[in-house]
Amino acid sequence: MKNLNKNSFLFKDISSIKGVGKILEKYLKNKKVDKVKDLLLDLPYEVTDRSKITSLNKLEIGKITTIQVTVEKYNFPRIRNLPNKVICSDKNNKINIIFFNSREGYIRKILPLNKEVVISGKINFYKQQYQITNPTYVNEINSKDKITKIFPKYNLTEGLKEKIYRNIILKVLSNFDKDDEWYSEKFLKENKFNKLEQTLKNLHNPKTNKDINSNDYRRLVFDEIFSNLLYLSKSRKIVKVKKIIKKFDKKKITDIVLKNFGYKLTDGQLKILSEIENDIRSNHRMFRLLQGDVGSGKTILSLISASNVISSNHQVAFMAPTEILANQHFQLAKKLFKGTNVISSILTGKTNYKEKNKILSMLENKAINFIFGTHSLFQNKIKFSNLGLIIIDEQHKFGVNQRLRLAKKGGKNCDLLLMSATPIPRTMMLSYFGDMDISRLKEKPKNRHEILTLVKPERKIDEIWPLLKSEISMNRQIFWICPLIDESKTLNYSSVKKKFNQINKIFPNQVGLIHGNLNKEEKNLILNKFLNKMIKILVSTTVIEVGIDFPDANTIVIEDSNKFGLSQLHQLRGRVGRGKNKSICILLYKNNLSANAKERLKILKSTNDGFEIAEKDMSLRGFGDILGFQQSGIKNFKFADPIHHKDLFFLAEENIKKIEGENFKKYENLLKLYDRAEIIHEIGN
Ligand code: ADP
Ligand code: MG
Repeated sequence: MKNLNKNSFLFKDISSIKGVGKILEKYLKNKKVDKVKDLLLDLPYEVTDRSKITSLNKLEIGKITTIQVTVEKYNFPRIRNLPNKVICSDKNNKINIIFFNSREGYIRKILPLNKEVVISGKINFYKQQYQITNPTYVNEINSKDKITKIFPKYNLTEGLKEKIYRNIILKVLSNFDKDDEWYSEKFLKENKFNKLEQTLKNLHNPKTNKDINSNDYRRLVFDEIFSNLLYLSKSRKIVKVKKIIKKFDKKKITDIVLKNFGYKLTDGQLKILSEIENDIRSNHRMFRLLQGDVGSGKTILSLISASNVISSNHQVAFMAPTEILANQHFQLAKKLFKGTNVISSILTGKTNYKEKNKILSMLENKAINFIFGTHSLFQNKIKFSNLGLIIIDEQHKFGVNQRLRLAKKGGKNCDLLLMSATPIPRTMMLSYFGDMDISRLKEKPKNRHEILTLVKPERKIDEIWPLLKSEISMNRQIFWICPLIDESKTLNYSSVKKKFNQINKIFPNQVGLIHGNLNKEEKNLILNKFLNKMIKILVSTTVIEVGIDFPDANTIVIEDSNKFGLSQLHQLRGRVGRGKNKSICILLYKNNLSANAKERLKILKSTNDGFEIAEKDMSLRGFGDILGFQQSGIKNFKFADPIHHKDLFFLAEENIKKIEGENFKKYENLLKLYDRAEIIHEIGN
């Protein structure tokens, strides 16, 4: 086994490589090449193939080409600045070889009259004739093998010349430290992987254009995925420390909460509740993700968990991504904890100074048991007396680092429950949430109807009004979603303000308007009016996207639906269909849907299963920007592609489980290679 104290060659500064001077170092740093590993992990994207001889009647302009021709005639003009020209031919055609700044003697030497030669360079077309200007290679026919046959191409930034860059790479590869390997021979063999050294040598000397399914590329993909899983597993160990005080004092408050809730919990809910209760009772800190589609009934589970923790004399903090949502959870809690002695409160960015100070001192004195809020809950100045549980709703907006920081903030005795309605494809599950235990809530409460989804062009909008009239006559409510707040000169999308005026004419005094530019009081006023059914139609931007619950809203109309991502549409649609009545979702579009948009709307029409939608979204759009994970702070993969390399995700999953109990010393360099080690170091201490 290797000597781990030694600083691995991979992490040497690029300036320590012989031949890399100050200037080159600067250019390389511009290209984000700092360390040897940065150079090695920057793979060529294609190859230039000079190995094939192309006939002069098959030339393609702009392509780097190798030709075999006979030198016919010189044309050396005696006028300054005019280039020297050599006319050559094969049996099919003629070509001009052009030299700027080359002396006659030199040209005569490399291209002797009547001799057959091999020339390689880029084909141009000038004055109706093919030409190669300043050819890269000119060789005698019997040494044509000297022409580098296949040459890797890199993305180079200004100042970096191909040949120089290539030479550094070759130098680095020849100095590669054989000890830089973390897998056993057996494992490598089983999976057809080469050692890291050979892998990198092969990838930098490719015979074909980049091939993400080659064994060598796949080895790097595996490295990357595995490094990510190691990182998550390490972070899990940091979080799941032993609790000092175990909690759990079931029944006292929980019974009242359940009674106030009024519904029977589904089997799925009961199962998850027991998982959570086991965690809370255990002597290891809970770090659990509760994942369930929109409307599956996660909130009640978190509130019951809170009641357990509060009964055992701890405080609970509940964080939501928006104020509206924090407030709705707070209101629900007030209702469900009625008849108990639990004191709850809410703290948001807009809570006024005086009130805030009061809440802060009450939290410190344990006069508040249950606090709701947004991010502001975790400012430094907030001190809890004995925080026992942090609940976070719609958690996918937080990344691993944020989760770790949060865990640290809560302290060793604090359990963590995160909830997310964002379904994530199975391949990615462990890569994103491998640090947590996961509960999946699959079934929805039984009193639900399927949501009927219709896709309509906007010109048929008049067909919708009678439907809305009949819904309103049955005392039901409608959401109307537009992408923009104000009209835009540049974007051809609908705005809520204009739409509000339009609908208000058809349904006077029954329409409300809400969007992100309103302040808290204004928003609350409207939401409460809608909740109390003083208004029937709520025209809104996506501010109503997450989590808010309106049981009598049965219809949602989404304008410019093709503008939104699949998962976002699914979330929006989840705003209806929560009550007992049948619900409808109408997706409107202006004309000219792209094929991709058509397919997306079709998928929504065909299924209401968030997990299925996520899988399809991924195969349709690639992993790129689905699900809003860019915001999560998790770096996108450099090599791994969740669609093409599915099997490697599963292989990594299988292997991380095998070594869970071990320390990861031998993988230190792998963690470092993908910049995971420092984060662990920073947060773990
Ligand atoms: P989400 O999982 O999207 O956060 P919620 O927790 O907001 O969903 O629940 C959606 C709706 O379902 C709420 O109105 C809630 O009261 C209701 N609900 C939850 N559990 C049940 C149940 N077991 N039976 C009936 N209704 C339920
Ligand atoms: Mg919710």
